[in-house]
Amino acid sequence: MVPQALWGFNLRAFLAPEDWNRIRKDAYARSGSRCRVCGGRGPQWPVEADEGWAYDDERRIQTLKGVISLCPDCHGVRHWGKTMTEGRQDAALAWMAEVNGWNHTEAARCGEQAMKQWHTRSRHTDWQCDISWAIRTYSAVPIRDGETLARELNRKFVRQAQTRVGVRAGHVTHIEHLIGER
Ligand SMILES: [Zn+2]
Repeated sequence: MVPQALWGFNLRAFLAPEDWNRIRKDAYARSGSRCRVCGGRGPQWPVEADEGWAYDDERRIQTLKGVISLCPDCHGVRHWGKTMTEGRQDAALAWMAEVNGWNHTEAARCGEQAMKQWHTRSRHTDWQCDISWAIRTYSAVPIRDGETLARELNRKFVRQAQTRVGVRAGHVTHIEHLIGER
């Protein structure tokens, strides 16, 4: 789970469009445009690029480890918090259960654990983001205003989540109090 302080801190913000396109298209090509988790493809577009991050919760550094292809359904599960704020959690839970061979309770427990982890990480605002993998692997050059853009995106995403959760108040009360604590 990406801590709230780092929402928007992604390759799309930090790199020139041509670098990001090169990296994401390479991920699609490596998987034959199939999902790395379930092997499937989406109905409207086959796959989406998912950035894999490792977390150092002590030093609060999020480090990019790679980019892979996921079908839209698996991508929705990966971005669990966003999926919940958009009210798509029922379908995503069902898909999580099916792909992992779990029952509904097991999937729901996994979702709750993820939210707990997100909550713990989001208590801190001093997270740093390390994208050196993209620079090393693809000779990508970070753009000058990347950090400014990432911060703008962060504010936008936080606002969107607050609005959505506000609109859906009562349906997702268990995350209502989590968002906007910064
Ligand atoms: Zn999939």
